[in-house]
Amino acid sequence: MLSYRCLNLKKISLYVHIPFCERKCLYCDFLSFSASDETKKEYVNALIRQIKKASPAYREYHVMTVFFGGGTPSMLQGQDIIEIMDEIRANFDVDKSAEVSIEINPGTSYDLASYKSAGITRLSIGLQSANDSELQKLGRIHRLKDFETLYEQVLSAGFNNVNVDLMSGIPGQTLSSYENSLRYLADGKDRPRPTHISAYSLSVEEGTPFAAMKLDLPDEDTEREMYKITGDILSRNGYRHYEISNYALEGYECEHNKVYWRRGNYLGLGLGASSMVENVRWKNTEIMDDYIRSDVFEMKNVERLSVEDQMEEFMFLGLRLIKGVSIDSFTEYFHAPMPPKYEQVIEKYISLGLLKKERNCVMLTQDGINVSNMVMSEFIF
Ligand code: SF4
Repeated sequence: MLSYRCLNLKKISLYVHIPFCERKCLYCDFLSFSASDETKKEYVNALIRQIKKASPAYREYHVMTVFFGGGTPSMLQGQDIIEIMDEIRANFDVDKSAEVSIEINPGTSYDLASYKSAGITRLSIGLQSANDSELQKLGRIHRLKDFETLYEQVLSAGFNNVNVDLMSGIPGQTLSSYENSLRYLADGKDRPRPTHISAYSLSVEEGTPFAAMKLDLPDEDTEREMYKITGDILSRNGYRHYEISNYALEGYECEHNKVYWRRGNYLGLGLGASSMVENVRWKNTEIMDDYIRSDVFEMKNVERLSVEDQMEEFMFLGLRLIKGVSIDSFTEYFHAPMPPKYEQVIEKYISLGLLKKERNCVMLTQDGINVSNMVMSEFIF
């Protein structure tokens, strides 16, 4: 339950980037790399300096969620996570029931007891596949047995809000091997099912080792079928599809990610982290040496979003949610009706069966989800 105080304050979420990984997965284009223990220590010190420097500007804000992402946050010592959270609580007004998440790679060491002491409420585990040869093809450092060991410990440590990431479209993956991974997680026969599953499809990004390799990727029809069975199997097991790639048991949607899709305020702490507060967007430096020596934490690429930018984002982020975009909320937010261009695009895609309208909300249909990027791009002015 939200405290009385928070009703009078503006809301914000904090993202904390931990850019360390043991080694790069072959498909990864995130800002992450391996580093010495000394560099990690310097990084934690810099993060703490940034928390202290940044926080006075957010005195009027109430922190509703905190998310440690990466990279691999579990590459830090548990004590580091405690220190960072202590510093966040000392410098920001964090809600007593804030959702505090951390990403864990099953192949690294992790310190669940410290995460508990730090007040972490939600764990997000990067499994990706329950098939060892697929994990190997992705260049992941863990195997299924590492996940099983971690998951058992997570349950006995009493964490009851757990996301697991799954991936479709892996080189060499078949419909049946993907289905096995889904059932392994969701059928709840051998272990309690996770409360949340993020099911993304692999995207081959420029500059990654995968982009230079000849990959045996599943064809488009198989990918589409994978998406369909994700929805079928997860809904049969009690998950609600609430965002294009995200499924949750009742009451376990990811509050932090919903802030991005609903265009709430978020402040990025750490290397290369992005922020958006009151329609101003910026990034932190991506240069490690600059970050760990910084005392100023300069805002890079500062951009004040125009009303058109805000409308575009309102539509293409809102359409990621299965509930879609409320036309009333649009009008209320912009103090104006939807522009004629949007009305035309909506009518066009309703007639093509890619969008639908229910209770004055516009949402993607199942066919629309398959071509969501194309539909969303039509909302760009
Ligand atoms: S664990 Fe995640 S961030 Fe690290 S290299 Fe692999 S995909 Fe990238």
